[in-house]
Amino acid sequence: MIYPIVKYGNPVLEKPSETVTVFDDELQKLIEDMFESMYAAHGVGLAAPQIGIGRRIAVIDITFKEDPKAKLVLIIPEIIHTEGKHTLSGGCLRVPDFRENVTRPDRVTVRAQDVQGKVFEKTGEELLARALLHETDHLNGKLYISHLSALKRDLMKRKIRKLMKAGEW
Ligand SMILES: [Zn+2]
Repeated sequence: MIYPIVKYGNPVLEKPSETVTVFDDELQKLIEDMFESMYAAHGVGLAAPQIGIGRRIAVIDITFKEDPKAKLVLIIPEIIHTEGKHTLSGGCLRVPDFRENVTRPDRVTVRAQDVQGKVFEKTGEELLARALLHETDHLNGKLYISHLSALKRDLMKRKIRKLMKAGEW
């Protein structure tokens, strides 16, 4: 099932998600649906709040279907180590017109649980590091615009509010 992507302005995007305690078939199905929804939205990462579900689950595939082994499921992810700096044009699903350069660490280690509830650690660089940070931020109710300067953030918010008023958001 493909879920619609929640738009910026929905409160689910700005509050911390709930933890996950049950690792069952329902969770498995939700994760499959999250991959499907992510691909349908042309994304390489998706956090559950982006489909309106406030639970600490994220999926990533920076190869976009090229390599099935690259599919990554992160349940209750936590960033445990970061290194370096890397500047990339940042964006997010549903805010594609608002891409801005954002500097973040370029090597990141995350600790998370897999679909069976097994704890693992994963280290990623560059694009994967960015995705690990970005999706973990979503689960903490933090949006990528929080990494922009206050000036740029205000500008972006004003643009979005204008679009909302015009019914174009
Ligand atoms: Zn995002």
